[in-house]
Amino acid sequence: LTERLQTSEQKRHRFVSDASHELKTPLASIRLLSDSIVQNENMDAETVREFVTDIGNEAERLQRTTEKLLDLSKLDDDIRIVPEPVDVKQISLDAMVLLRPLAAENQVRIHCELCDGCVVMATADDMFHIIFNLVENAIKYNLPQGTVNLIVSEDGETVRIAVEDTGIGIPEEDMHNIFARFYRVDKARSREAGGSGLGLSIVHDAVHAHGGTIAVGQNKPRGSRFIVSFPKATSEETGI
Ligand code: ADP
Repeated sequence: LTERLQTSEQKRHRFVSDASHELKTPLASIRLLSDSIVQNENMDAETVREFVTDIGNEAERLQRTTEKLLDLSKLDDDIRIVPEPVDVKQISLDAMVLLRPLAAENQVRIHCELCDGCVVMATADDMFHIIFNLVENAIKYNLPQGTVNLIVSEDGETVRIAVEDTGIGIPEEDMHNIFARFYRVDKARSREAGGSGLGLSIVHDAVHAHGGTIAVGQNKPRGSRFIVSFPKATSEETGI
């Protein structure tokens, strides 16, 4: 027990220090940019505008990271989970409404195959986070003219959500780390795409909170494939 407590304390400590680091970097940039404006009386209007835009971008990054940290802390809180029957097709359609503009911006095509009656016991919020984060990544780490496939299907007692992309892929040696908090394969690309390194750990925790599993692999001939499986809700659970 002592050993387990020590491990969990070490994990907590590591998480707090990683989180502080993630918040510290954009804050330091904001400080630096605002100091430069204040100290340089002769700065031309165009440069001031450029610096203020950068400050806005850093603030946006902070906002995204803190929102994701809040999502994670909600997932840590066991009492919050009151599972209800969730229709995966409907949640997928809701997520697509928000993601199609990002896909268009990145010149990526989204192809959906969504089966009816794929109902699992979860929360609509968690299911939304799972699908949204996986498809968002499939768009962000794609290439122009690339494709994302979102396939929701059922196989006996299991509901399967597959998200495939034709993007840059994940190196084999990084695959086992991909769900760790703040882990990024390419920090620069993730930052540029507005990433926080928290999306996949939120997906991982949300999937496990509802008795599901998640696997990652290569997509053929290129890109990545994530497969999430949940037990299908029984007729007693759905009341139908
Ligand atoms: P981020 O906010 O950086 O996207 P995530 O936790 O969602 O954080 O993902 C962790 C890292 O995994 C990303 O930084 C990226 O390097 C890699 N990754 C996630 N999804 C994909 C994908 N579909 N294709 C290639 N790399 C991916």
